[in-house]
Amino acid sequence: MVKFGPGGNSESFYEQGYKLSVDMPGWLRKMGLDAYEYQCNKGVKIGRKTAEEMGRNAALNNIFLSIHAPYYINMPSPEEEKRINSVRYIFETLEAAKWMGAKRIVVHVGSYSKVDKKWALETSAGVLVKTLQIAKENSLDDIAICPEVLGKVNQIGTLDEILALCSLDEKLIPTVDFGHLHARGMGALKEEEDFIKVFEKIEKVLGYERLRRLHIHFSRIEYGKGGEKRHRVLDEVEYGPDFLLFARAMRKKRMDAVVICESRELMAEDALKMKRIYEELE
Ligand SMILES: [Zn+2]
Repeated sequence: MVKFGPGGNSESFYEQGYKLSVDMPGWLRKMGLDAYEYQCNKGVKIGRKTAEEMGRNAALNNIFLSIHAPYYINMPSPEEEKRINSVRYIFETLEAAKWMGAKRIVVHVGSYSKVDKKWALETSAGVLVKTLQIAKENSLDDIAICPEVLGKVNQIGTLDEILALCSLDEKLIPTVDFGHLHARGMGALKEEEDFIKVFEKIEKVLGYERLRRLHIHFSRIEYGKGGEKRHRVLDEVEYGPDFLLFARAMRKKRMDAVVICESRELMAEDALKMKRIYEELE
């Protein structure tokens, strides 16, 4: 079964008078959704008590939880201090995930900045291995770290790079953001076959089991020369990629994935639309 949910909180959640993310799981269930990606993209500020309350609400409402780690993680930084901090930020996200009972954390690897691409990938691999080791020592290794395919050309996170990093340990699951792939490939995802090709590449490198359980971000996207510009909503049909084609590809590959929608302001509403499109294909 594919699970659908938003990354962060929709505008309408606040417009209806809600203020706290701990109310999101109940709100999402009423809508008919089954996943929620809690945003720690500006830092892990959630305390243990709140995280545990979130976890209880998610369990009660059957919502699959993941957390997006801070954006400022930069594994291939030329500065050692920043690499050490990156390990710490991932560790803090894992800790919050443990309190919440979240099964996955999504992590941006970082950017190439002035460093050589090969050096950047090798250095990031080193940081990841170190993080996995610390996670294990602290019994946090039951939470999957999910490095994300990123949308800007100066970011480390092409599909090949993410697959290479995920090959380091079978616990790593790729986060494939199909909007980012589309942007980075300058509109690469046009046909159902284009999505199938992506799935097959993942399967070839990591095997079917990890493909099936993939962590997915999906939204339409605006892009330019540098890749990603901004996420768009499902009704803005002038922007790709097209969800129906993607849904068909997911059916063909019998995916059991988690699909997180990151549409601007309408992430929950669009996640529900995507869930309906997917279900109608049955
Ligand atoms: Zn992300």
